[in-house]
Amino acid sequence: MKKMMTVFAALALVASLTQAALAGDTLAEVKKKGVLVVGVKDSLPPFGYIDEKSREIVGYDIDFVKTIAQKLGVKLELKPVTSASRMPQLMEGNIDMIAATMTKNPERAKQIDFSYTYFLTGQKFITNKGKVKSLKDLEGKKIGTAKGSTSEQNVKKAIPTATVLSFDDYPQAFLALQQGKVAAVTTDESILAGILGKAPNKNKFEIPTLQISEEPYGLGMRKDDKNLVAFVNKTLLEMEKSGEAKKIFDRWFGPKTSTPLKRTFKITADK
Ligand code: GLU
Repeated sequence: MKKMMTVFAALALVASLTQAALAGDTLAEVKKKGVLVVGVKDSLPPFGYIDEKSREIVGYDIDFVKTIAQKLGVKLELKPVTSASRMPQLMEGNIDMIAATMTKNPERAKQIDFSYTYFLTGQKFITNKGKVKSLKDLEGKKIGTAKGSTSEQNVKKAIPTATVLSFDDYPQAFLALQQGKVAAVTTDESILAGILGKAPNKNKFEIPTLQISEEPYGLGMRKDDKNLVAFVNKTLLEMEKSGEAKKIFDRWFGPKTSTPLKRTFKITADK
């Protein structure tokens, strides 16, 4: 009996150690390896896109993780991800964190952890100018968006009669709109503004004032990666307090940019 108890105790110990290893301590690992590997978008101005001159990935998401890496005293490595690939990449351990226009929601929070909200937007549409005044005008129409996004789910609920075509990314969905293959592209307003800002024939399109959801962005980390989440949240609050977070917003969304937006949020200790 005593022997059995010892075996059980040993098994329990192994189980708890395994769980700790699975949850991991990415913060300690990142410090040890000297590099923070972050999954980012690389074709979504102004969040993450390749700068024509430097050929480097730049943008709003990138500036936040640059500061986080700096405060950690490690190098930053950026790995392009898509809306559909970002969670698997994180959970498989190929990246340490996601900074990729990612909405926090309860469904995703079952699988990964999120930082405090560092950007707030809402889902809208890009359409041909003058064509769409209300959601009714999109009923029964084809609408383009990206695979694995909240945009895909929200639009199916908001306009059940529409046919949703899901592309790998939003630039491909916009190409379909330009080619007349879809009647609209839908995703977060901030992303649509970025697409329109760079479009050569932007006068043909518009973003009607039809919003179908709120989209708070969070940095994604592995489930129960407590030390990293705490470090990231602390850094985000410091960035808000010092004015750096607002500076980053103004750099990418200020009045002089091609994507002028109002900053309707502050970074706070939210859930
Ligand atoms: N923020 C939305 C999401 O996380 C849409 C943008 C994206 O696909 O990254 O799904």
